[in-house]
Amino acid sequence: MKNLKIRLLGDPVLCAKAKPVEVIDDSVRELSAQMIQAMYDNNGIGLAGNQVGVLQRIVVIHVEPEEDKNGHAIPPDSPGEQVLLPKMPVTLINPEIVSFSEDTCAYEEGCLSVPKLYADVVRSRRIVLKSMLLDGSSILLECGGLLARCVQHELDHLDGVVFVQRAEEDGYRAIEPGIRKMIRKGGYRNFTVRRLV
Ligand code: ZN
Repeated sequence: MKNLKIRLLGDPVLCAKAKPVEVIDDSVRELSAQMIQAMYDNNGIGLAGNQVGVLQRIVVIHVEPEEDKNGHAIPPDSPGEQVLLPKMPVTLINPEIVSFSEDTCAYEEGCLSVPKLYADVVRSRRIVLKSMLLDGSSILLECGGLLARCVQHELDHLDGVVFVQRAEEDGYRAIEPGIRKMIRKGGYRNFTVRRLV
């Protein structure tokens, strides 16, 4: 299996909008398998097409059930977690968020395209996710917990948005030198982070 290269912040493909997948054929199934492998190889919990240089609306995720402080799995309370967590890894084809809760929370995010830099991002606690799965079936599910967080982060990628654009000001300032260093190292001289908050 071909090893996919993870694109890093500054690469224009991360700022581009991905196009819908038209048919789920062998090439899409193969891409999904390669993306899952790349996600595992890099210890990620999600990966979007843009991050491997493919501008198609495909996302792979592997979110584990949350644990309490004794390491016991907390039963998920959203229908999306109940349905999807037992199926992990899950590939989402043409996913959309059809609604975002007004209730938000801050949580520290990282990204395989921004290695070793972490910052708090405020996002909705719950979302309603509409998507196709790799077998062609469709889902429409309310998701909470880490799954809701991960889906929002990954779907942003498909629209050309990276979490550093949404990071809270203090957190952003703390990682800004690291971002600059990374961009310089990547040779992306004209790149600037277009902040969305
Ligand atoms: Zn990411």
